[in-house]
Amino acid sequence: MRAGGQAIVAGGAAVCAGSSLPAVASSRPKVKGVDYYQKLGVTPFINAAGTYTLLTASIMPDEVQAAVALAALRPVNLKELHEAAGQYLAKQLHCEAALITAGAAAALTVGTAACVTAGADPAILSIPTDMNGLKSEVIVQKSHRYGYDHAIRNCGVRFVEVETLDQYEQAFNEHTVMTHFFNAGEEHISREDWLRVAHKHGIPCFNDAAADVPPISNLWNYTQMGFDLVTFSGGKGLRGPQCTGLLLGKKDLIEAAKKNNSPNSNTIGRGLKVAKEEIVGLVAAVDWFLAQDDAAMEADYRKRAERIAGQLKSIPTVETQIFIPPVANHVPHLLVTYDQSRVKITGAEVMKKMREGTPRIEVNPSTGGPAASAGLPGGSNTVVVGVWMMQPGEDLVVGKRLREILQGAVGS
Ligand SMILES: *Cc1c(COP(=O)(O)O)cnc(C)c1O
Repeated sequence: MRAGGQAIVAGGAAVCAGSSLPAVASSRPKVKGVDYYQKLGVTPFINAAGTYTLLTASIMPDEVQAAVALAALRPVNLKELHEAAGQYLAKQLHCEAALITAGAAAALTVGTAACVTAGADPAILSIPTDMNGLKSEVIVQKSHRYGYDHAIRNCGVRFVEVETLDQYEQAFNEHTVMTHFFNAGEEHISREDWLRVAHKHGIPCFNDAAADVPPISNLWNYTQMGFDLVTFSGGKGLRGPQCTGLLLGKKDLIEAAKKNNSPNSNTIGRGLKVAKEEIVGLVAAVDWFLAQDDAAMEADYRKRAERIAGQLKSIPTVETQIFIPPVANHVPHLLVTYDQSRVKITGAEVMKKMREGTPRIEVNPSTGGPAASAGLPGGSNTVVVGVWMMQPGEDLVVGKRLREILQGAVGS
């Protein structure tokens, strides 16, 4: 937060340079922030896990924190800000229209609401309890039912499951309002077939790609492929505020989503408010992300994983492998496996010891158990280290601690 704090002070002058408003920050006493984690007794940790919601997902880069701090200095009209941010993002991300939501899950809700209420404004008030006369069936592959179903069901719709292309063709009827695709889900029906069949029936397709950057180009790949609505989480790979998301897509649907969203009262999205600081934060995060380079990011993460692996070399039976999940969290992870008859500790115990040490370290939740996110391996003798959310230098701390724990568990 230090960088953000400095920006408040430095930015006080900057924000006024082009406006007729008097300076704000420079006329205020300079305050030193209180460390509320310390005051509240909440212990931060080294993130060797990845972008998990429970673990607060990501840290905003300095540029983003600075933009958030500046935005906090001035009131603006929330609709004007949403409008301007949406237009800017649509241009940057090569799609027709964009809306900043309170996370990808919120985008699923207001995007579905858009499909249900498009062209029938009174329905905005009546969903989800009064669905009379509204289309309410969402077609989805059985393997794409997941932990975010509820965000869609909030709109009063029900899922119709299909497993084959043939079943999919047959599932459309006068109640069909949308089809839903989980981008990192198992691909029984391809994206191309999914879109072709839905569009033949004139039905919009939603693609949930929440955790699916990098690569950077995914931010436009799916809208350009033809998906009518696409969402990305703002607080995962994009490293914006955790409570933001992107809803990208067709102009008419994004307009309908806006009507169902905060700041409009008496809508399904009113409780999914995004504040000015968060809107600006996500725009700044997108700018930051677009300035990155896929190959450079991957090389950096690989180096971190290799440095950790290097520290584990001498431990009997320990093997390391760098693994890149195919779609979600598509970045190098370090997989550490060992023979439990020699290294006498379970992955779950390693995770606990890492968590309880000083400093506290959180390894990937796939460690010692089932896969914690699509495409990641797990297993009782496996430690999964997510390196991409570490701060510079933390890989050395993680490697050293992991070596201590594994070496300490070596039996005869
Ligand atoms: C994380 C995630 C979400 C939710 O994203 P938020 O921005 O936290 O609301 C939705 N869908 C998938 C597939 C995710 O991985």
